[in-house]
Amino acid sequence: MEHYQVGIIGAGPIGLEMAVALQRASVRTVQIEAGAIGSTMGWWAPGTKYFSSPERIAIAGVPLVVEHEDKATREDYLRYLRQVVMQFGLDVRTYERVVGATRDDDGFVLRTEKSAHGVGGVEEQQRAARMHADVDGRDGVGPRSVPPRGMEYRVEKIVLAIGNMHTPRLVGVPGEELPHVSHYLGEPHRYFGQRVVIVGGRNSAIEAAIRLYRVGAKVTLCQRRLELERDRIKYWLLPEVEWLIKKGQIGLHAGVGVREITERGVVIEPLAGGATGAAGGPRAKARSSERVEIGADAVLLLTGYDQNPELFEMLGVELHSEEHRPRFARETMETNVPGVFVAGTATGGSQQRSKIFIENSHEHVERIARAIAGRDVEVRERAVFEGNEES
Ligand SMILES: Cc1cc2nc3c(=O)[nH]c(=O)nc-3n(C[C@H](O)[C@H](O)[C@H](O)COP(=O)(O)OP(=O)(O)OC[C@H]3O[C@@H](n4cnc5c(N)ncnc54)[C@H](O)[C@@H]3O)c2cc1C
Repeated sequence: MEHYQVGIIGAGPIGLEMAVALQRASVRTVQIEAGAIGSTMGWWAPGTKYFSSPERIAIAGVPLVVEHEDKATREDYLRYLRQVVMQFGLDVRTYERVVGATRDDDGFVLRTEKSAHGVGGVEEQQRAARMHADVDGRDGVGPRSVPPRGMEYRVEKIVLAIGNMHTPRLVGVPGEELPHVSHYLGEPHRYFGQRVVIVGGRNSAIEAAIRLYRVGAKVTLCQRRLELERDRIKYWLLPEVEWLIKKGQIGLHAGVGVREITERGVVIEPLAGGATGAAGGPRAKARSSERVEIGADAVLLLTGYDQNPELFEMLGVELHSEEHRPRFARETMETNVPGVFVAGTATGGSQQRSKIFIENSHEHVERIARAIAGRDVEVRERAVFEGNEES
């Protein structure tokens, strides 16, 4: 069994920044990732842009230089993460998923299995469905298949940088499992010429509505709130979506709940104060207090994502609050289990409203590195032009 001082689970941006900090502190570390590095960005739609400026999502002091001084796209950022891994020669054990974690007097043993993808995205959802079918013996192949061969690692400490967008937040209506229904935008081109109903009112739903309109889909948005959440929508998306709704290019049913998804459409019903009947769009109708079915060739349920709590539970990390956030000490990021630390969006549990991002997680890395190394460790080296105030 390989032996390390620290095992980092997850190789998203914050896990990678953690690995560089521990390398700088000469701490012997193993990093284990269920998919490719940055696998969470791997399932975003092509060309998705970060809202943060590049310098705020740059990690380990390595400048993130983007064409035309713009915001980084998913592709820019994945290229950048590969570059960071190569620059520091990080040894990331990719396509290995941590499936077991036990504690004894010498620390922890992490047990892994070979894995085909990261924890999140469509493939993770399909995996969950397969596991469920296996357990119930409904997959037609009998008892659970033999688990794939894995590895065991002995580590003295663990950093959980596992993220928090592992499974879609289900709407919980009949028809959610139909083949033309998805919780992920994916490749916009596939929706050309399709009638698409998008459920959700936050950035991901609004961004998808605008992009799909531009690829030639007939888009209708359905949301529970009576108004667009103007102060929560990215400032460059808001005027666009408002204009498209006003001009009747995108339909909006506000103040409605989804009751059922059928082969042909989405059944919606007004909530208190709401009414069906699109406020705009090619299929605008008189507003009504009745249950109606909106025709749809495809349905996107963009209602957010939940964290998989299994690793926390296995290790005995307490989860608290409505969002099931792990309990940890702010100064060190160490959880209630001595030797287990948590970093990045993993600290937020299943955030109802995202408050933890890459840009405010760098400090987690600084605190953990200090706690483990026993001294300050340079995490984000000085910016290239810092100190220019003298000129
Ligand atoms: C569309 C979109 C735009 C965003 N834009 C911004 C932005 O502009 N600025 C910003 O700061 N943030 C942004 N975010 C949020 C944030 O960037 C991402 O969520 C980011 O990926 C978080 O980094 P992380 O390292 O904490 O976790 P992740 O990147 O999610 O990494 C966690 C990793 O852990 C792995 N993992 C989990 N469980 C296991 C296991 N059991 N075994 C092995 N590996 C495991 C996963 O496969 C994954 O690769 C955005 C999010 C979305 C969805």
